[in-house]
Amino acid sequence: MNQYDLIIVGAGPSGIFAALETKKMYPNLKILMIEKGRSIEKRNCPKRKTNICVDCTPCNIISGFSGAGAFSDGKLSINEHGEVGGDLIQYIGADKYKEVLKYTDQIYLDLGADTKIYGIESSIELDFIRKKAIQSNLKLIESGVRHLGTEKAYEIYGKLQKHLNALNIEIIFNTPVKDFIIENNAIIGVTTDNNKYYAKKTVVGIGRDGSQWLKDLCEKHNIETEVGIIDIGVRMECDSSITKLIDSITYESKLLNFTKTFDDKVRTFCWNPKGEVTEERYDNHLSLVNGHSYKDNKLKTNNTNFALLVSLKFTHPFKTPIEYGKHIASLANMLAGGKILVQRYGDFKRGRRTTIERLEKNNVQPTLKDAVPGDLSLVLPYRIMLDIVETIEALDNIIEGFAGDGTLLYGVEAKFYSNKIKVSDSFETNIKNLHVLGDGAGITRGLIQASMNGVVFARQINWN
Ligand SMILES: Cc1cc2nc3c(=O)[nH]c(=O)nc-3n(C[C@H](O)[C@H](O)[C@H](O)COP(=O)(O)OP(=O)(O)OC[C@H]3O[C@@H](n4cnc5c(N)ncnc54)[C@H](O)[C@@H]3O)c2cc1C
Repeated sequence: MNQYDLIIVGAGPSGIFAALETKKMYPNLKILMIEKGRSIEKRNCPKRKTNICVDCTPCNIISGFSGAGAFSDGKLSINEHGEVGGDLIQYIGADKYKEVLKYTDQIYLDLGADTKIYGIESSIELDFIRKKAIQSNLKLIESGVRHLGTEKAYEIYGKLQKHLNALNIEIIFNTPVKDFIIENNAIIGVTTDNNKYYAKKTVVGIGRDGSQWLKDLCEKHNIETEVGIIDIGVRMECDSSITKLIDSITYESKLLNFTKTFDDKVRTFCWNPKGEVTEERYDNHLSLVNGHSYKDNKLKTNNTNFALLVSLKFTHPFKTPIEYGKHIASLANMLAGGKILVQRYGDFKRGRRTTIERLEKNNVQPTLKDAVPGDLSLVLPYRIMLDIVETIEALDNIIEGFAGDGTLLYGVEAKFYSNKIKVSDSFETNIKNLHVLGDGAGITRGLIQASMNGVVFARQINWN
């Protein structure tokens, strides 16, 4: 009989840490984890070697053991005020946030994470960056960053997979959960293509990749949600000499711009010094941009990349922000033959297409080799374009030369955590025994908070 105490849907950081902490507190519980992607050792993105995306189903960059964490840049945002990487602090309060952050960070350290935290020591250079930010009407969020690097993140999550196996947590790979089995407003199990699995409780940590699937199930089973924020924009790439000061002092800078014209919030996100721009695939056809960087000097490039994301909150009657984001991203794919579109900032400003010839002459060469030169003004709504231009010009005051013609914009980058599910303090939905965690529930937006969310969930549940 497929009967368990706890079913965990999705083996991303939120699911992994939920499993780890639950087993630590209640060693006798029978836990099943169901993951749509592959085990970590079988996750392999061919594009990393060949530069050609072969449309793996599901995408190995975002699916499989450790979810979007395996090939992430592995930046852990060590910010006691909970200002970076999600809204978890709003659910658990400041004191608990600090304690769980320390606890979760220590697990990463015990598994071999770098002990250095960037961006916390006061220095003349940090004062200078802060001053320049203020002068440019930008807000600098000062946050520590522990950088694992892509290869270390992969190694750490590999150790966690072995650890969960050793704890007798059953993990089924290559198996998307299709539906919830709900009786009398309580969940009693889940279905896959070929099976039904039953449990006293189910926790769902399906990340951004599964957010549309979860949203559809919310509608089907009347799971209460609220319309969240959608973050949409571009990934920027410039020569690392331009960002050298910020790269070396803060590793990444969280800078906020409340734009002059629309007063929209635009933020820098996921900063990758000497990194690579990458592509991630959703629903097997939608290509979005991302980025990462290696710790190993031999694997570093000459470019730095980061995202510029515009946060949009919609009001009644609109309630489909995920579809809105996907629609915009699909326009870029349409123009670029299914690939990612790249444009020089000089061309973007002048309203002309970047051609292969212009790109070849450019100072900065794209690290995403199969990106297609094109025109993002045919893709992005005016409001988002203007927000981006105003932010690039403001950033140029801190990062001198950033607004140069040769800086590259890749489109589109979007974050699908806008299906925000209403939950109790144990992350339980209005369906009894159904809990939701992480990015897919609209609670977190990064590795450390997703991991912490798993820890807090396990601690809040009473199994007695
Ligand atoms: C390239 C890249 C770089 C990043 N860099 C950073 C960084 O440096 N720092 C940082 O803090 N964050 C980074 N992130 C974001 C970070 O990876 C996520 O915030 C984090 O992994 C979210 O954890 P999660 O557990 O909520 O979901 P995920 O990690 O997305 O895991 C969800 C899992 O659920 C599985 N799933 C989905 N639907 C189903 C289903 N129906 N049935 C079964 N399984 C399902 C998916 O296959 C996936 O494995 C990066 C992301 C990417 C893609």
